[in-house]
Parts: sequence; structure tokens; C-alpha cells
Amino acid sequence: PPALELRGLSKTYGDNKLTALSDVTLSIRPGEIFALLGPNGAGKTTLIGSVCGLVKKTSGKVLVFGHDLDEDPVRPRYQIGLVPQEVNFDPFFTVAESLYIQQGYYGQPRDEARVKEVLAALNLSHKADAITRALSGGMKRRLLIAKALVHKPKLVFLDEPTAGVDVELRRDLWNYVRRLAAEGTTIVLTTHYLEEAEELADRVGVINEGKLLLVEDKRTLLRRL
Ligand code: ADP
Ligand code: ADP
Repeated sequence: PPALELRGLSKTYGDNKLTALSDVTLSIRPGEIFALLGPNGAGKTTLIGSVCGLVKKTSGKVLVFGHDLDEDPVRPRYQIGLVPQEVNFDPFFTVAESLYIQQGYYGQPRDEARVKEVLAALNLSHKADAITRALSGGMKRRLLIAKALVHKPKLVFLDEPTAGVDVELRRDLWNYVRRLAAEGTTIVLTTHYLEEAEELADRVGVINEGKLLLVEDKRTLLRRL
């Protein structure tokens, strides 16, 4: 089955009847890097939230590796990792502790080797015992990524992963995304930088005002622009 399948996904927020997503149909294959490209307010975060369980969809279907989230909203999501835009940590944990807690959220046993591996991959090993509150902004973003990946998700969402990050983190993140995809992890990232979609993605979906306007192979898209 596809890693992710959306069938007619729609979301209308509250009483103002704002349609943030309108009848989005999309299929993403395992191991693919898919970039969702669109301006602010296009509906990118709402789409991710609908899959990850942070937003209640209005209508449509969401299937994760063939599992309909209406039938089982919990277990299919254990395969998902989410790197949100907002940095939001409990301030009293160390970096390593926050990763062990994350493993627990996903029903996994404490795995020290895995935590070490993820910390090393994100150049965070020297911060393992630091209190998360004391980290710099860049280190907090690295931890946010580590938290999203520590349980070895097969489908990873990155919401505007490089907005406001320094050049070094952008490079590390792009390299890591490529490595994950090469290992078979499916990546969905949102961006409003064409450059980032161009750099990373196999396919690009263009979204505006809640509508998925086109989905194309990156090369085809670049030829048209
Ligand atoms: P993007 O991630 O592409 O910037 P969003 O999904 O955040 O877009 O937002 C899509 C639209 O939905 C925007 O018009 C935004 O203002 C609106 N929106 C997002 N979240 C909420 C919410 N919790 N309540 C009401 N409107 C929202
Ligand atoms: P905290 O405030 O400690 O980060 P949260 O409960 O907000 O705790 O989220 C815990 C972590 O789980 C976050 O890092 C987030 O990336 C991830 N997460 C939250 N909801 C989901 C979800 N539905 N699917 C996948 N990951 C999620």
C-alpha cells in the first residue's frame, strides 16, 4: 500500500467556515520524498495535522500504510514521526531523558543505543545531559528533530523544517533526510521555498488556499517554471 493516502480530505475551521483544506486527494509511495509547496496559509500545517492527529478533519479519508485512521486512530500513527514548526519542550528534562520519554510515548522500551545514535546523527551528543530549557534555539530544533525520529518512524512529516535555521543545521537536516529516504523512510515536508523542494524532493505538490493544484515529478515541474 502507499505510505500515505488522502481521499477527498477537507477541513473547515470553526464558525467562520474557513476552508483550510478542500477535497485533497494524494498518494505517496514508500521511500518517497514529497514536498508540499505553498505560501503561508495554504493549508500545509492543516494537512499534516489531519494525518498526525492534531487536527480533526471535516471529511475525507486518511490511510497510513493502508490503515484507515477512522478505523484505528492510534496504532497506524505509531509509524509516524512529526517535526512540528513550534519548539515546545518540557523544561525540566535533559536532552537524553526527553528522548527516552519519547520512546515511551510510542510504546517502545528504553533503548540507549538508539538514543545515542540519534543524538550523534544530529550533532547533539555533547548535549545529552543538558537541560532542554538551557539549549540554544538551534540546539532545540535539533532536539525537536531527534524526538520525531527516535522511535524509527516509517513516515516522517517535517513542517517548514528549515524556516529560520542556520546554514549548518539546514545542511545537516538535508543530509539526514536523504539518508532516511535511502533507508526506505517516507518523507513529507512542507516548505514555501522552491529551492528546498528542488533540492530534496522526488515529487512536489503545489497547494494554495486549501486546494492541491498540481502534483508532479520534480523535473517536470522545474521545466514548467
Ligand atoms: P500553512 O501551514 O500552509 O501556512 P495552515 O494550515 O496553517 O497553512 O492554515 C490554513 C488556513 O487555516 C489559514 O487561513 C489559517 O489561518 C487557518 N487556520 C489554521 N489553523 C487554524 C485554527 N486552529 N483555527 C482557525 N483557523 C485556522
Ligand atoms: P511535548 O510537549 O513534550 O513535546 P507533546 O505531547 O506535544 O509533548 O508531543 C510529544 C511529541 O510527539 C512531539 O515531539 C511531537 O513531535 C510528537 N507528536 C505529537 N503528536 C504526534 C502524532 N499524532 N503523531 C506523531 N508524532 C506526534
